[in-house]
Amino acid sequence: MLTRSDVAAAPFRPAARIAGIGVSEILQIGARAAAMRKQGHDVIVLGAGEPDFDTPDAVKEAAFRAMQRGETKYTALDGSPAMKEAVREKFRRDNGLDFLANEISIAAGAKQVIFNAFMATLDPGDEVIVPTPYWTSYADIIRIAGGLPVLVACDAANGFRLTADQLERAITPATRWLMLNSPSNPTGAAYTAADYRPLLDVLLRHKQVWLLADDIYEHIVYDDFRFVTPAALEPALRDRILTVNGVSKAYAMTGWRIGYGAGPATLIGAMAVVQSQSTSNPSSVSQAAAIEALTGPQDYLVERRDDFRLRRDLVVDGLNAIDGIDCPRPQGAFYTFASCAGMLERTTADGRRIASDRDFCAYLLDAAKVAVVPGSVFGASPFFRISYASSCAELEEALSRIAQVCSKLRR
Ligand code: PLP
Repeated sequence: MLTRSDVAAAPFRPAARIAGIGVSEILQIGARAAAMRKQGHDVIVLGAGEPDFDTPDAVKEAAFRAMQRGETKYTALDGSPAMKEAVREKFRRDNGLDFLANEISIAAGAKQVIFNAFMATLDPGDEVIVPTPYWTSYADIIRIAGGLPVLVACDAANGFRLTADQLERAITPATRWLMLNSPSNPTGAAYTAADYRPLLDVLLRHKQVWLLADDIYEHIVYDDFRFVTPAALEPALRDRILTVNGVSKAYAMTGWRIGYGAGPATLIGAMAVVQSQSTSNPSSVSQAAAIEALTGPQDYLVERRDDFRLRRDLVVDGLNAIDGIDCPRPQGAFYTFASCAGMLERTTADGRRIASDRDFCAYLLDAAKVAVVPGSVFGASPFFRISYASSCAELEEALSRIAQVCSKLRR
């Protein structure tokens, strides 16, 4: 008779393609904060990358009507014809871009669009240029797809934007893609038409390099900033630009999981192959909801943007009032990315030295019960990211706690 140990499985062995790739550190910080809350601590979490607004009622109702009509079955693989039509309308209205239906791909979030694009195009050794600070998922997706992320550090003094010179130097014969994200997660920095121009000129000279423009924060821009997308700026590059966007951030629909991409039909077709053997179509009900979001009234986007702007100013001003923190005023998204260089080498009341942004964020969580994300997670130190998609009352309380515990650090 075999015993349980006779038939025990060999130790679990993960595939090499996920070696070194973990669950997002931001989620881990959220989990730590949740555990502290469970122990009775009043923790303020400023880590999440999602709007605190609710999905608009009209969008929810559209989903409900779709279910009542029986739209609960498979749809076309990379998006229903109606969904693709809604995305075509969005690009015409917001960006002055005309795409055919076969130049559009709908997936379960912008993240899946990016995943599909890299899975469909990268071979081992292929390089993707990723300006940092960056949304960490870019590098992990590139690695899972077998490619090599080439991280290029962008200077805070240049607004965390990539320069043409840096791009030129990073390009090799193995470069397949450049990733650009404007407005950016985590810095909120954004590219004007004039900022994009020299980069697009470099790309025009390097015909093997494609551009993935992640426009997911398009509608969250402030003051007199005018959002532009590279495909609209340089028609000559249209054949090698994938424009990625989605409904998660602008329409507060993170849970519905709908993103879309627009680019050359050859690429879109290859991405459909990846999607066909992984998730197939994105949720039929979510597509119906996203159609309403993209084609229904858009006026609340401005109201929400104005609301975010107030909170941005609250956080930027509050942080800059703290000795040792320096926070630029971002043009978009709902994040601040502040330097905590002035906090390094200070010591906590119980004698611990703040040696890094990780230490500083751990101190804020411990002492102030405020969860923020260290810049090192995004490839830039010593900084920390605050997501200000929280109520003004909560932000004010968090800022007051941060100021208080920072004042207790000894030089
Ligand atoms: N791109 C950036 C820069 C993001 O910050 C995020 C989400 O945090 C995404 C893409 C993914 O969005 P989605 O919810 O559509 O997958």
